[in-house]
Amino acid sequence: MGTIQTLPGTRDILPEEIGYWQYVEKITTQILSRAMYQEIRSPIFEQTSLFERGIGEATDVVGKEMYTFKDRGDRSLTLRPEGTAGVVRAFLQNNLYATGGVQRLWYHGPMFRYERPQAGRQRQFHQIGLELLGSGDPRADVEVIALATDILKKLGLQSLKLDLNSVGDRNDRQRYREALVNYFLPYKDELDPDSQDRLEKNPLRILDSKNQRTKEINQNAPSILQYLGDQSKQHFDQVQQLLTELNISYQLNSCLVRGLDYYTHTAFEIQSDDLGAQATVCGGGRYDGLVAELGGPQTPAVGWAIGMERLIILLKQIQNSPHTSPDIYIVSKGEQAEGQALILAQKLRFQGLTVELDLSGSAFGKQFKRADRSQAIACLILGDNEATNQTVQLKWLATKQQETLDQSQLIQNIGELKVQLDRHKQKTDLSSE
Ligand code: ATP
Ligand code: MG
Repeated sequence: MGTIQTLPGTRDILPEEIGYWQYVEKITTQILSRAMYQEIRSPIFEQTSLFERGIGEATDVVGKEMYTFKDRGDRSLTLRPEGTAGVVRAFLQNNLYATGGVQRLWYHGPMFRYERPQAGRQRQFHQIGLELLGSGDPRADVEVIALATDILKKLGLQSLKLDLNSVGDRNDRQRYREALVNYFLPYKDELDPDSQDRLEKNPLRILDSKNQRTKEINQNAPSILQYLGDQSKQHFDQVQQLLTELNISYQLNSCLVRGLDYYTHTAFEIQSDDLGAQATVCGGGRYDGLVAELGGPQTPAVGWAIGMERLIILLKQIQNSPHTSPDIYIVSKGEQAEGQALILAQKLRFQGLTVELDLSGSAFGKQFKRADRSQAIACLILGDNEATNQTVQLKWLATKQQETLDQSQLIQNIGELKVQLDRHKQKTDLSSE
């Protein structure tokens, strides 16, 4: 009988890789909390109707990709395919809008979509996302875009491209929709089947097609920017002007659309050439109609989501996995010594040091090799002699210098030990540069 394996499109994030994840989460938390975004954690499954209304039945996500099932109480549940719908539900259910002003929220966690698994595309994947609710000001659009670029820049990612578009408001889009249908109709038979289908349901989404012939046809399609009314145009002009003032470069891409009524104005994507077919790292935009669509008060909002797996593919191309090495590695042999070593390890950990305890009971020689491999700064050695005298050998692994200390003295003078550890750490940091 074979061992049980992960399901297609899911994977383990192993210790050798987790450093990247924690690093991204650390940088994100820093950058977003400095801008006064607060983390929100909403359930991983919700009522199916939340996503049907909140994402839209005409989208691929709802139409083809959701993990929907009945629970034992015969409710239709769905594993969340994205974060915004749940955040907006929480915003409404908990009256977060009651305070009046804006709400700045962010989240990170797993999302689920039934897609064909490939590099950068999984069935359980992870997003970091944020939502700024309660402001329709162009500065809000630019704040969220700037935060996305700040995070990516701080992580050291270069050669990223920001694509920008406006999908206007409901009226603009109605006029544009007619123009698009008129343009596409003569080509109807040449469009891919999905796009033919969208011609009636959701013609804007044809612009998003990955089919080669459809892409060619799209090249000469009318641009939505020609159909923006005065207000929409003014909003979009201001977004562009503010981006320029912040030195954030972008390119206009009139094929960048979100085809649903509650998406409004700014739409954007951040892409990398180093990702192959799945090039989009971050997607976002304004959704002034969504909160009302989900039954709340009219509330303008803007947000984005970054795909963690794609981000980490990029990060791996530019840096090694951040890993932790212990400050101290403890080796011991003999019954008494081994017991004292465990106690000492706990005391040092309690004082804030990172301590790895060798549990093997093997010969000292083998334990020393492991100490070296652990890249600890110092090693503590306890054998029968040390156990009897309640002492310990402290050995600096870089210089091989060794001294004998009382165990109690070591803990009492913990401040001094920390200073020495820092000094040795700085030396090795310099020599590794
Ligand atoms: P794509 O066109 O690649 O399918 P999308 O438009 O469906 O992307 P969004 O819903 O905007 O993606 O999600 C935001 C980000 O989440 C994407 O830009 C991508 O980085 C990531 N993402 C989306 N779906 C997946 C997936 N199945 N596996 C891994 N990452 C994903
Ligand atoms: Mg998709």
